Amino acid sequence: MTETVVTGAGLAGLTCAYLLAGQGRRVLVTGWRPGDPEPASGTSQAPGETSPPARWLVLNELTIDLLREVWDGGSGLFDGAWPIRCRHVRWGGSSTDQPLEQPSLAVDGARLAQRMGRRLAETHPDLVRLTAAGPAPSVAEWLIAAGHPSAGPAGGRPVHIGRRHMISAEVGLAAGESAATSHLVATGPAWIFLAPVGQRRALVQAMVPGPVADPVPLLRRLLVRTELGRRLVAPPDAAVVVPAAPRLRQPPCGPGWIAVGGYAARFDPLSGSGTAQAVRTAVLAAAAIDAIDRGADELEVRAHVTDRVLTAFTEHVRTCLGLYTSALAGGDPAGADPAGGGAGSARTSWGDGRAGLDPAAWQDEIDLTAAALRGFGMSAATSARFTLTGPLPGWRLVPHSR
Ligand SMILES: Cc1cc2nc3c(=O)[nH]c(=O)nc-3n(C[C@H](O)[C@H](O)[C@H](O)COP(=O)(O)OP(=O)(O)OC[C@H]3O[C@@H](n4cnc5c(N)ncnc54)[C@H](O)[C@@H]3O)c2cc1C
Repeated sequence: MTETVVTGAGLAGLTCAYLLAGQGRRVLVTGWRPGDPEPASGTSQAPGETSPPARWLVLNELTIDLLREVWDGGSGLFDGAWPIRCRHVRWGGSSTDQPLEQPSLAVDGARLAQRMGRRLAETHPDLVRLTAAGPAPSVAEWLIAAGHPSAGPAGGRPVHIGRRHMISAEVGLAAGESAATSHLVATGPAWIFLAPVGQRRALVQAMVPGPVADPVPLLRRLLVRTELGRRLVAPPDAAVVVPAAPRLRQPPCGPGWIAVGGYAARFDPLSGSGTAQAVRTAVLAAAAIDAIDRGADELEVRAHVTDRVLTAFTEHVRTCLGLYTSALAGGDPAGADPAGGGAGSARTSWGDGRAGLDPAAWQDEIDLTAAALRGFGMSAATSARFTLTGPLPGWRLVPHSR
């Protein structure tokens, strides 16, 4: 059987490779990073395990369940992950007085990918090869474009919905701070998320409405505007910035290729469901290839994949519009609740008495989001051609009876 090439060894690419190998296919994964020897805080490290720098993800229960389901129980994948029990939200009208019960796990995404890669190679030693960079072989049966620059012949144009960027840093938690509660605060030019990733360590992320030249001083200034700064041992002294506006690849598939994960549709981290969405696209891609192999019409299957990705992305952009609008100072909270239910009193503060996100900074992002949504409305998805069934003996796309 000819090889399927997966260009990208993130969570989506590796999940797709695992499912494809489970179908008995030979799979080459490019972009695999062996990592460095430093363990990340808050996680345990098995003997012989190496790790690249931590890339923290907070995974909700739905995402964990999905990953376990796809990875045959996921035994060992989340060892050492840090449990978070509650979430405290200060977000315009959806603020909560008390932390809400919202169990999740703080997971080092880079460590998780390493474990997935190892599991993949161990489970399918005769079918799977993991390799560092390198161009995709031109005679692949299928190409799964999963984010690595060697995406080869995959086409599609990235459409960005906004310009926002996320600044991330790892910080020390002050003594007495809860290591089981995360905090989300909308505060003038940014929203800030603080999540424990260990007994005395935390991830701090600030979303700002544009590119950032000098992230550390900006993050420090943002933290002192809120009560979050007081929860830290010291201000951050290092930070990374990544683009974090929603982004859709149009189309997300073509002849012989399918995009997955953030390469197909990147979600705003505010949603907390980026990883779940990435895994769903991996499942969909593997099931699509399987369906075509079993005789389904390739054009119909590709149209179905395009519909599903566009529908999920449109829904996400609609949710973003509601959430950001509701966080604007004086915004209308109706229909939007990042607390995940149960709005409380509106007491979001910039630290100087004003509440919510600054409209002067954020209105442009919101307008871009609304305009994109109108555009997607015009290319509304058609009704589903297939039903996805699973998980065993493998996820399948079954045609609707006509
Ligand atoms: C800043 C950021 C924070 C996120 N936080 C969450 C979260 O808390 N929960 C959740 O379910 N999903 C989160 N996501 C989404 C999630 O990382 C991806 O959707 C998921 O890993 C898809 O994997 P992939 O294989 O498509 O891409 P990957 O190859 O895993 O990621 C593509 C690129 O995105 C960047 N990236 C991905 N994740 C992070 C991160 N945590 N920090 C910094 N850079 C990152 C890296 O540059 C990476 O090379 C986040 C995404 C970003 C960009």
